[in-house]
Amino acid sequence: MAKGRQDDEKERGNDGTTLDLMVEEREALPPGLSRLRSGMIAVTQLFCPNGHNLVSDASGARFNGYPGITLMVEGRTTRGLVIVSPIHGDDTKFGESDFEPGEVLKLTCPRCGVPFPVVQPCGCTEGSNLVGFFLDEAREPGNQVAVCTAWGCLRSRITDRFQVISRYE
Ligand SMILES: [Zn+2]
Ligand SMILES: [Zn+2]
Repeated sequence: MAKGRQDDEKERGNDGTTLDLMVEEREALPPGLSRLRSGMIAVTQLFCPNGHNLVSDASGARFNGYPGITLMVEGRTTRGLVIVSPIHGDDTKFGESDFEPGEVLKLTCPRCGVPFPVVQPCGCTEGSNLVGFFLDEAREPGNQVAVCTAWGCLRSRITDRFQVISRYE
């Protein structure tokens, strides 16, 4: 590789998924989403309520070729950056992991510290909620990714104009 990115090796080293080949087709998916050949959906941009993009190459973590979603996560005793897979339904994570299964966490933007708004209770454990991230920079409330705040709970969904287009229970 003559003129690769200097962190090429790091990205490969951190790629935790082997789900599928990456496909660059958009179909009728809204901005911020891309579909893998397997049919799974990858999130390619995701914004905090103040407009910061949480999907970034800066972490060096890649999932099936896609950069991860970086969140500040705070539990009972630990606080740190967690990079989660942008592929919906993939539980691969990097970064801080010193949390108990089912521990309810506070998720905030790593850039500005704003908490993500609660969409609805999850019900997996006491006090857990689905919190929402915005798929487009305009931060339309109907175009969101919502995930549970309990560590290890995979319940999540993606909505396009308030319609659920991908759901993981
Ligand atoms: Zn922010
Ligand atoms: Zn949950």
